[in-house]
This record gives sequence, structure tokens and C-alpha cells, in this order.
Amino acid sequence: MIFKIDTPDLTEERVGNAGTPGVWHFDSGKPGPSVLISALIHGNELCGAWVLKDMLAAGLRPRKGKLTLAFCNLAAFDRFDPLAHDASRFADEDLNRVWTEQKLAEPITRERQRALELLPWVKQADRLLDLHSMHEPSPPLWVTGILQRNIDLGLRLGVPRHLIVDAGHKDGTRMRDYGQFGDPDGKALALLVECGFHGDPSSLRIARQATAQFLLESAVVLPDQLPEEWQQRDGQDIAQQVLQVTQPVVAKTTNLTFSSAWRGMECIERAGTTIGMDDGVPIVTPYDNCVLVMPSLRQLVPGVTVLRFARQVH
Ligand SMILES: [Zn+2]
Repeated sequence: MIFKIDTPDLTEERVGNAGTPGVWHFDSGKPGPSVLISALIHGNELCGAWVLKDMLAAGLRPRKGKLTLAFCNLAAFDRFDPLAHDASRFADEDLNRVWTEQKLAEPITRERQRALELLPWVKQADRLLDLHSMHEPSPPLWVTGILQRNIDLGLRLGVPRHLIVDAGHKDGTRMRDYGQFGDPDGKALALLVECGFHGDPSSLRIARQATAQFLLESAVVLPDQLPEEWQQRDGQDIAQQVLQVTQPVVAKTTNLTFSSAWRGMECIERAGTTIGMDDGVPIVTPYDNCVLVMPSLRQLVPGVTVLRFARQVH
């Protein structure tokens, strides 16, 4: 896949305005939600970095509540090379797997150290939009976690069309599930949006649209503060789909192949259909009408999720 998004110059943005590199915090001084928009949790996911850069360049400020913009994994971003974009997902370990008290108590990697810097900003937020993009060309989607309040928020926002309801990863906790965001009895809202392939300009358009919808829904900014183009909504005429992830397919070996060039969102009619092989062992769909979510072999090592099986629930 050719990378068609320019690498943003973050020389000014990485300074921040609140004592933490890459973090910008604006307080309207009026009551309202505290919104955190995060980008570059993965260093090669540039669409979010562009959205934050654009908002800073435009001087966007909250009319009520607070707005925090965070360029998260700058150490990984600094290694970004469009010709080898997979190599800069992280520096030492995945920043979206370190959000547990146990891992944060052992800051042995650059990502854990960075998570500790970001932690006060994560803790003070009651609404989080985490901007991501994907290893492969694939339809954009919300990753809602399992809490109904976040699924409802995704449905209120309307686009992207697909909402993926999943419990996260075996190998660690995501920022979007940390603390108040994962509290079943709490009120804090968190959505992660996967905007499409890392290098596809459409990922930038989706990231802008998702950010605009999220900000407007939270009412910290008003429509006249955002470009009209950001307020368009690709695919808003198509009904949304809520897909419950039932299990991940976790690689056991590096000798794993898919039996077709899956792009994601394919619905496999019959249970027991072979969709790939892991070291000679067939990977089969567990039930009828099984939807394949975010297939990718680009980060293939044993223990990594290469695909999720999901069932349509809405
Ligand atoms: Zn990501």
C-alpha cells in the first residue's frame, strides 16, 4: 500500500502548553465536560496528528468545559518512515496495551514512561475520543468497548457505520478502557475510531468528521467553530451496524496465512468455514453469519490479534 498522507511537522505542537510535551489543554472557565482527543497512540497513525495540528492552527478553544489535545507516542512518531510505516507503531511496546496499574508501576519501557506523563490528562477527562488508523485498507469503524453508554454514543454520532463492541486485548489494557472509562457504574464516555488505512487520505477525512461530531455532541464547541467540510458525514445515509466481538484470533506462530485477502466486515455464512491457517491448523468461523473484523498480518508475532470474529447484534 502506498502512503499518501504527508508526515506532519510537529515541531511546535510537541512543545505543548500545559507542562507535558505534546499535550495542549484549554479551559473555557465555564462548566461542561472535559474532552480529551488523543492522536498518535500508535506512531504511524498520522490522521489524528493532522486533526490535532489543524485544530491548534485554527486556534480552536472550548466555549464551555475543557478541551485537551494529546499527541501521545512522539518517540514512535519520530521514527516514522512512509516506506516502512509498520516499523513506527511503537518504540518498545504498544502504548495501547500498557494501561494497567501493574504495568504503569513498572515503567521499564518508553511507552510506560509516556503513559505516566499522559496519565493526569487521561484521569481528568470525562470524554475521550482516541483517533486511530488501520494496517490495511478497511471500512472505518468505532471501537466502543463493551459498555452500553459508549455504544449509545456511537449510535448518536451516526458515522462511521460500523460499531465494534469488544472487550479489548489479552495482552494488555487500552487507554479507552482505563480507569473511569472502563467503570461499568461510571459516566465517563470513551470511543476509539479506526479511520481506515494509515496512508489513505480518506482516513484524514474520517478523522476530521469523527472529531467534529464528537466535539459538537459534547457541546464544548459550536458548529460555527468548525470547518463545514469537517461537519459532513460520509455514509450517513446507511444504517449503522453494531457488531459484538465474540473472540479474537490470536496468532500462535508466525506461520499464519489467510485463505483470502480479507479486508474486514466480510460476513461468512457458514460456521466451520476455513478462513486461514496457523502453522497447518485451520482457523474456522465459530458460527453462521460470522463477521471478520480488522484482519491484518502486518504485525504478526505469536500472541498478536490478527482478526476478530463478530456477530451482528443491531
Ligand atoms: Zn492504532
